[in-house]
Amino acid sequence: MDNSCLFCRIVAGEIPATVVHRTETTVAFRDIDPKAPTHVLVIPVEHHADVVALATANPAAAADVLAAAAAVAEAEGLTGDGFRVIFNTGRHGGQEVFHVHAHVVGGAPLGPMLAGR
Ligand code: AMP
Ligand code: ZN
Repeated sequence: MDNSCLFCRIVAGEIPATVVHRTETTVAFRDIDPKAPTHVLVIPVEHHADVVALATANPAAAADVLAAAAAVAEAEGLTGDGFRVIFNTGRHGGQEVFHVHAHVVGGAPLGPMLAGR
C-alpha cells in the first residue's frame, strides 16, 4: 500500500467510500463527482499507477478488474441499454488519480465518445 495514494487509502478503509462491490483483488465504489446517473470506479487492491503498469505487472489482476466492472454493470442494471468502461491514462487521457481505475458509467445516453469530436 502507498500511504500517499488516495485509492490505496480507500482500499484500507482510511478514507470513506460507498463500496458497491468487493473481491479479494478488487474494490468498486461510487465516484464522488458522478458524470452520469451511474458512475462507479473499479480498482485493483494492488497499487499500480495506470492500466499499462497493471497489465504489464499483473495481467490476472487486470482481468479481475474487467470481471468486476462487468459484475458492477450487471448489478447496476446497465447491461441492457449499454454503458462505458473507461481507463483515463496519463496527461492526454486526463488521468488525475494515479492508482489505476476503470470508470463504469451509464444509466443514460452518454453522447459522443470524445468531447468535441
Ligand atoms: P481520473 O481523472 O480518471 O483519474 O478519475 C479520477 C476520479 O476519481 C474522478 O472521477 C473523481 O471524481 C474521482 N474521485 C476523486 N476522489 C474520490 C473519492 N474520495 N471517492 C470517490 N471518487 C473520487
Ligand atoms: Zn494506490
